[in-house]
Amino acid sequence: MPVIRKKLAGYVGFANLPNQVHRKSVRKGFQFTAMVVGESGLGKSTLINTLFNTPLYPPKDSLPPSAERPKTVVIESIGADIEENGVRLHLTVVDTPGFGDFVNNDESWRPIVENIESRFDSYLEQENRVNRQKIVDNRVHACLYFIQPTGHSLKQIDIEFMRRLHTRVNLIPIIAKADTLTDEEVRDFKARILADIAYHKIHIFQAPTYENEDEETLAEAAEIASKIPFAVVGSDSLVETADGREVRGRAYPWGVVEVDNEEHCDFVKLRQMLVRTYMEELREYTNDVLYENWRTEKLLSMGVAQDSSVFREINPSAKIQEERIMHEAKLAKMEAEMKMVFQQKVQEKESKLKQSEEELYARHKDMKESLEKQRTDLEEKKRRIESGRPLTPEKNATKNRRFLR
Ligand code: GDP
Repeated sequence: MPVIRKKLAGYVGFANLPNQVHRKSVRKGFQFTAMVVGESGLGKSTLINTLFNTPLYPPKDSLPPSAERPKTVVIESIGADIEENGVRLHLTVVDTPGFGDFVNNDESWRPIVENIESRFDSYLEQENRVNRQKIVDNRVHACLYFIQPTGHSLKQIDIEFMRRLHTRVNLIPIIAKADTLTDEEVRDFKARILADIAYHKIHIFQAPTYENEDEETLAEAAEIASKIPFAVVGSDSLVETADGREVRGRAYPWGVVEVDNEEHCDFVKLRQMLVRTYMEELREYTNDVLYENWRTEKLLSMGVAQDSSVFREINPSAKIQEERIMHEAKLAKMEAEMKMVFQQKVQEKESKLKQSEEELYARHKDMKESLEKQRTDLEEKKRRIESGRPLTPEKNATKNRRFLR
């Protein structure tokens, strides 16, 4: 259908649609679930508290000693409703205490994959209900993976975890406690981590860019992408800088590392990626790609034919491939149909020919028989005439023939 561009003569009002959507979503509030994974002591709880500027995690020393060291990887969630300028965010942080803390960490990733998939399961189950009015989205929208600041390269456990998880969750790799490394060490460490990630074909979340995007947005996305893996410093307490400012940071004899200073660490860029600019993209990618692919796999494994429209929309090569297969199948079907019609016509013709051949044969036989009969009759007549006997009707002729014998 051709699209006609028209200038409106007056104000109609649909320009207000974004405001309507905005009001509605503000009223409904937002749900966001972030998962944190990494060995204990890497600063996960501190960073979450720093990110949302709220003491979401209770101080560790308030917990009983038995709560600190689980025997296996356990999954714990902390939920909080936070509000900023009238916008409500229901934030859930999923922690995975115990990950990487044992002598044998071979299967550390397994309970985490199972947890993420069981959240998909619960969403699918809600989608399949008759009443789908109140779907609670507990799916994990982002996974902050904390890398130990060794300065070497990724460890086996890091690679194994990311390899197992990257098709199920938006991975955001983080170099923990970056203040323990020099700038040079951070730079080299980042390069080695990225090389490992590329070598193992691990997909990490990238800020998306769209066609016709303005230069500012493109520059922002590129800036964020250039910082991955984010080298962060977390602190939920205020310290005083040499010039007398009160900042969130960590004080050292040689000076203060400021959390919110982009010269000091990538915290600001991480917050931009996770909260300020791409939270909605993380939710969307989780729903449209990660969840949709999982759902397709699950339904196919259950033998249900797939409705792959959403997947095809996002994956153009799969779309082309599918269209090619459909086209070939259509051609093959047409060819088969034409062959069938042709065969049918040939058969019809053959049977018609056979029928007329039989008719001809029957007619020929009749004619032959009647000619034969005429010939014997004539011969009989001829014999009688020659023998001087009178011509009698057939009946008498038979009688006479008997007398004559
Ligand atoms: P978790 O076990 O991963 O949740 O780690 P915590 O957040 O409890 O932090 C463990 C210890 O590391 C605490 O003493 C924190 O004060 C400290 N810590 C947290 N973040 C940082 C950081 O960015 N740099 C440094 N040097 N220490 C940190």
